Amino acid sequence: MILQPTQKETMSQKIKLHANNTRPFADASWKEQLKHLITTVDQLREYVNITEQEKTEIEEAMVKFPMAITPYYASLMDPEDPRCPVRKQAIPTSKELIIANADIEDPLAEDHDSPVPGITHRYPDRVLLLVSNQCAMFCRHCTRKRMVGDDNQHVNKNQLNDAINYIRNTPGVRDVLISGGDPFLLSTKRLDWILTELNAIEHVEIVRIGTRTPVVLPQRIDDELIAMLKKHQPVWVNTHFNHPREVTEQSKTALRKLADAGIPLGNQSVLLRDVNDCPMIIQNLVHRMVENRVRPYYLYQCDLSRGIEHFRTSISKGIEIMEMLIGHTSGFAVPTYVVDAPGGGGKIPVMPNYLISMGSRKMVLRNYEGVICLYSEPPIKETTCPPDCDYCDRNMPAGQKWAPDVGVGKLFDQTNDVISIVPENLERVQRRTYDASEGTGEPQS
Ligand SMILES: *Cc1c(COP(=O)(O)O)cnc(C)c1O
Ligand code: SF4
Repeated sequence: MILQPTQKETMSQKIKLHANNTRPFADASWKEQLKHLITTVDQLREYVNITEQEKTEIEEAMVKFPMAITPYYASLMDPEDPRCPVRKQAIPTSKELIIANADIEDPLAEDHDSPVPGITHRYPDRVLLLVSNQCAMFCRHCTRKRMVGDDNQHVNKNQLNDAINYIRNTPGVRDVLISGGDPFLLSTKRLDWILTELNAIEHVEIVRIGTRTPVVLPQRIDDELIAMLKKHQPVWVNTHFNHPREVTEQSKTALRKLADAGIPLGNQSVLLRDVNDCPMIIQNLVHRMVENRVRPYYLYQCDLSRGIEHFRTSISKGIEIMEMLIGHTSGFAVPTYVVDAPGGGGKIPVMPNYLISMGSRKMVLRNYEGVICLYSEPPIKETTCPPDCDYCDRNMPAGQKWAPDVGVGKLFDQTNDVISIVPENLERVQRRTYDASEGTGEPQS
């Protein structure tokens, strides 16, 4: 599985080959690049060769989902090869117009779990704050395709104020995830204001920003932005590299500036068919990440959003990739593979099984090599802990209890006597209220 040095060289040579900065505006400042975004096929033709047939298809798809590509990202494209992973992520195809049976407009129910516009509050202690619907590039696989770049969904300052007020008035929120669109497309000044407001909220312990600019517009990570971010520590930044070909000199510089400023970096990739659905590509990608001080955080199974079915792989493909990462490479290079549950259930981690059997106090495990081993459990019945432990929920005032009162954690919680978790409206439970004297056989509510 480990790539040989010669293969590695070929990969970096390829990267150099395609990072062709002689193309128009490919290395211009971020503002210049945004002024010269590629939004038509004719502009795109300065970077890649496009047949008349492809032109027609692209233009058809653009009516529904507009195209926007930064000159820098376009300069990474292979001009001759339509299968180029950079092209696939950026150039529309007629496949986007296919509405598949499984497609859902808002698959993650982000609009549904929203107490105020701009906030998705799904997990108890953290919220998603949408601050912009603009992106440097419109990724073809974007899960929020329904709103990115839509002028009617513009995030104005009033909406932002309401969203920040919600966080201020919700003491349980200790982690704020700033996303969009791309938060780094806001002016540095506006972002400074948002971070200042959030920092002033006592219960907000950390802020993280999700941005694809290190990949599609690395010039955005300029000294002014870095100086501003440094004022607001702790700020974590998560970026979105999907393919080793996106790791260029420019993106490395952007990552280095962020890391040198003391900002912890993470990467969230999306598993995309014919782009990166290969253990070797993902292994190469995660190695390029850690080499640049970026911790691979999540590998996402592609969502059920409209117009992206052609990007979806099977979940088994993702498990195969995890099988070939875990144990084979540094633990911190391995992301968590997650399926974001349709309907708003949140991220569900999925991986190969390592626990293969168990007996009385005997756990049978297997490792990445296929070695099967026995772990003997200790001969004790339960944990004994001091009754006055400072961290224990039993000793906390009501409002500060942490122990999960949802999910399977409820079964472990010593402070209650719950013995089962039953789905709402379970038919079997409804049958218990059957009233023989009525004789209807209908469940009574
Ligand atoms: C992903 C996500 C989060 C953050 O989840 P982590 O697992 O903590 O990274 C929070 N809110 C929403 C709605 C999300 O989709
Ligand atoms: S940067 Fe993120 S939000 Fe913007 S288009 Fe790409 S995937 Fe969507």
